[in-house]
Amino acid sequence: MPELPEVETIRTQLAPHLEGGRLDALEISDPRWCQPLAPSALTATLPGRHLERLSRRGKYLVWELSGDVHLIMHLRMTGTLLLDSPTKPPHTRVRLAFGTSRGSRTVLFVDSRRFGTGELALGGRALDAFMAARLGPEPLGPEFTAELLRTAARGRRTPIKAFLLDQRRIAGVGNIYADEALFRAGVHPLRPAGRLTRRQYELLRDAIVDALQAGVQARGATIDDFRHVDGVAGSFQNQFLVHRRAGQPCPTCGTQVVKLVAAGRGTYVCERCQPRPRRARAARYAARSSSSRPV
Ligand SMILES: [Zn+2]
Repeated sequence: MPELPEVETIRTQLAPHLEGGRLDALEISDPRWCQPLAPSALTATLPGRHLERLSRRGKYLVWELSGDVHLIMHLRMTGTLLLDSPTKPPHTRVRLAFGTSRGSRTVLFVDSRRFGTGELALGGRALDAFMAARLGPEPLGPEFTAELLRTAARGRRTPIKAFLLDQRRIAGVGNIYADEALFRAGVHPLRPAGRLTRRQYELLRDAIVDALQAGVQARGATIDDFRHVDGVAGSFQNQFLVHRRAGQPCPTCGTQVVKLVAAGRGTYVCERCQPRPRRARAARYAARSSSSRPV
């Protein structure tokens, strides 16, 4: 699933071509994309408006259109956006056509598993309310501090990995970057979120920022479906320290990386660099967390 760095990559690739242009046409061929709204609710509202800014919040891509109207996209599992694709790939669900000063451009929302969404927010307050109900702070923003992390985790016995995947705690971190950040910080993914030391919250805060920034610099990670807007794969998967590296040596100590389940997700860890919390407690938390899978 695309996480913050992957969505940010798409944003930076699309924005220079589309910002300032006018949305001339919107075709929604899969009504599930925008439900509970009917496609006609979007096609009656959006075309004719200019794209003032393409922004991102967590894993959401926000098309800020003139008249304070916002189209909020989420790629979920397999969504991709292609710019000026020469063909119409299978599983194309939405087509946006823009008129810009440099000519016409098209964007296709392609999504084989069809979990991606498009939602509408009329007015800045509606957009703020939408995000406030779903997302915690931006980890690459100035408000994301070790103290904020520590305060949010206080008293929480949920495993730290599940805590990091909860978008209401921190926006934009998913399975890849949670594993990479926890390894960088030397924190075991099953450690209760409220039981880290003050120093560990500092290390983890920095590790989250470092892992996400490395992902952005590598233009995202392609494991399955993520592609750049020109169809090219990202490269961060070649820099993974532990994620998807079960059986391979830890880059720090050489111990074999192991795969376990935390928060219902395949989780990769060096149990020498990331010491395991007491075994019985860990098993109890793992069982509890596996019933709810954050998206
Ligand atoms: Zn190690």
